[in-house]
Amino acid sequence: MHTWLVYLACLTCCLFSAHAAVVVVATNETYLDRIAAFGPRIPEEGIYGFLIEPSDRSGCSVVEPARSENWIALLERGGCSFIEKVRNMQSSGAIAVAVGDPDHIGWTTMFAPGDTSDVEIPSVFLSQHEYLALLYLSKLFSTPMLVQMLPDDLLTWPLLDVLVIVILSPSIMMIFIYISWRVRQRQRRQKDLAPQNVVTNLPVKVFRQVERKENEPEECAICLEDYVDGEELRILPCRHEFHVGCVDAWLTTRKKFCPICKRNVMDDHSTEATPLLDV
Ligand SMILES: [Zn+2]
Ligand SMILES: [Zn+2]
Repeated sequence: MHTWLVYLACLTCCLFSAHAAVVVVATNETYLDRIAAFGPRIPEEGIYGFLIEPSDRSGCSVVEPARSENWIALLERGGCSFIEKVRNMQSSGAIAVAVGDPDHIGWTTMFAPGDTSDVEIPSVFLSQHEYLALLYLSKLFSTPMLVQMLPDDLLTWPLLDVLVIVILSPSIMMIFIYISWRVRQRQRRQKDLAPQNVVTNLPVKVFRQVERKENEPEECAICLEDYVDGEELRILPCRHEFHVGCVDAWLTTRKKFCPICKRNVMDDHSTEATPLLDV
């Protein structure tokens, strides 16, 4: 049940963090941005303008731009509030504003308290990485570069895309559930097994028919073969003995218990000997 909640949370998260973008027309490079909570929306066809960095990068004062029309202000975060920057650029004749954060990683939604109905131009926020990359590219151009500001495509998704996602997501979810079930299953199995190093540290003896005491078994209880002189037998803490190969495989791949008396080989304090012959 809670997996579905996680799934729902992820989906909501994806939807609400949808990004808009700035596209450099000459190179077709795209930089993600986030639209401010105030001001008008960006129209579906986008806004075309020349990207200009004013002499006062903060945008905290009205500026005289290099172009008088169709320009988009590229500003740096800090110095004054987002809304002040946007109002100043509107007064300076900009058609839109992009505010970048040169110092911090992460996304901010530009927000302004109070009445913002006077704001007539859209504005977007660029995270550090996007901002610095866009700034770097703009420096390579000798004249202001033409960019297109695009709205987030959330509401313009074609129906087909939405359908594909609606159909695919549950299948991906099922695969995820199956994998986590397998992992859990594996972990549970692992808990029932004895680690290889514990098993190899258990004592070993070499079988000799002449040394065998009367009450000692002649055959391995796992493979049911008679012991042959010279074969190595592993002695478990409970004193039961088996072929090394047989019991090692048993303990590390099936169960960490002695096949005869069911005592846990991981129990260190199982030193007291059990009666040897119950076979
Ligand atoms: Zn055996
Ligand atoms: Zn035993």
